[in-house]
Amino acid sequence: MKKEPFLTLEEVKEITKTYPTPFHIYDEKGIRENVRQLKEAFSWNPGFKEYFAVKATPNPFLIQILNEYGCGCDCSSMTELMLSDAVGIRGQDIMFSSNATPAEEFVYARKLGAIINLDDFTHIRFLEECAGIPETISCRYNPGGVFQMSNGIMDNPGDAKYGFTAEQLSDGFRILKEKGVKHFGLHAFLASNTVTNEYYPLLAEVLFEIAVKLKEETGVSVEFINLSGGIGIPYHPDQQPNNIYEIGKGVQEVYHRVLVPAGLGDVAIYTELGRFMLGPYGALVTQAVHQKHIYKEYIGCDACAANLMRPAVYGAYHHITVLGKEDAPCDHKYDVTGALCENSDKFAIDRMLPEIEVNDYLYIHDTGAHGFSMGYNYNGKLRSAELLKQEDGTIRMIRRAETPKDYFATFDFCPLFKG
Ligand SMILES: *Cc1c(COP(=O)(O)O)cnc(C)c1O
Repeated sequence: MKKEPFLTLEEVKEITKTYPTPFHIYDEKGIRENVRQLKEAFSWNPGFKEYFAVKATPNPFLIQILNEYGCGCDCSSMTELMLSDAVGIRGQDIMFSSNATPAEEFVYARKLGAIINLDDFTHIRFLEECAGIPETISCRYNPGGVFQMSNGIMDNPGDAKYGFTAEQLSDGFRILKEKGVKHFGLHAFLASNTVTNEYYPLLAEVLFEIAVKLKEETGVSVEFINLSGGIGIPYHPDQQPNNIYEIGKGVQEVYHRVLVPAGLGDVAIYTELGRFMLGPYGALVTQAVHQKHIYKEYIGCDACAANLMRPAVYGAYHHITVLGKEDAPCDHKYDVTGALCENSDKFAIDRMLPEIEVNDYLYIHDTGAHGFSMGYNYNGKLRSAELLKQEDGTIRMIRRAETPKDYFATFDFCPLFKG
């Protein structure tokens, strides 16, 4: 499928009069359409709720848009909890799915009334000692082994640091019941960025079956099952996007086959999607500032891996459109690079693109999740602004760009950097 930018060259030229490149920009219209579809796809389940994975895009303006559709927040750190609190998302609208959790985070999560999703058996005692056991609790399951789908995509839960074993869940539920827990939930995250409609239904089957087993073993009927994140997006134009309606239907089929006959027909389905919610509706816009001809052809940009680290760290593919040259032939081979003193700082390697001239604008697709949020300050690079293209086409700044003052803020105790 051809990847279409949600901005034209003319729009970008207009935006850069106010906001210089590089910047991340989000498409409000796309975000709203997608969250509506997700809700519709799971409308067969009256208790359905999406807890947006804050780590994907921790921006209060975007979280507020999702919250209009009933989305809560999935948090896993102190500042993510603070962000959720600041936008008014509290209580059971927060899922606290953390691991290796510090005591003060459990304390704060309890204070906000968040649903705590315990990552480990030993956290039962830890939580009891630092913050007390709440009436509602969820436990994260790790089935071990390998998790494989028919298209060959697999992941390796047996190597993953997360979750309880099946035995630990059974013991854990008994202990938690004794300690006064009244409402139980289950959670698992077994594969990331799955571009197949099969993942959620397969995961649901694993979770629904363990829920039935736990009911038999402990008498506990779980009230919610959290399918977590992991629904992927087609970063590459050759990939077939997921169909959220097919995914919803697939989960519904397993629900009726496994949960309903076991007397668990009231279970609410929760999700903690990040990438699927915002990934396709964000882009990084950068300007070509240099052309370099040595053993290869290079385009040097004003953005770098500090703005988008996925290509440098995972070798991830992000599609690039040269704005204004959407229909030009891709007959030039480039490495598209940033300015870090790190050779991995490349947005694309040996990528066929239209001929790029200095000052051309490059639109890097699908940066709406795990894009800005993974940014860092290496080489003293500053984080960019985040902009929102609103439904009426107007642009709103939803995070300003960092300035050197922000970079030096942690030396504010030191006279060299005062004022
Ligand atoms: C990262 C994460 C998510 C979101 O994952 P996506 O791949 O963005 O959907 C959800 N839940 C937990 C616990 C996570 O760590």
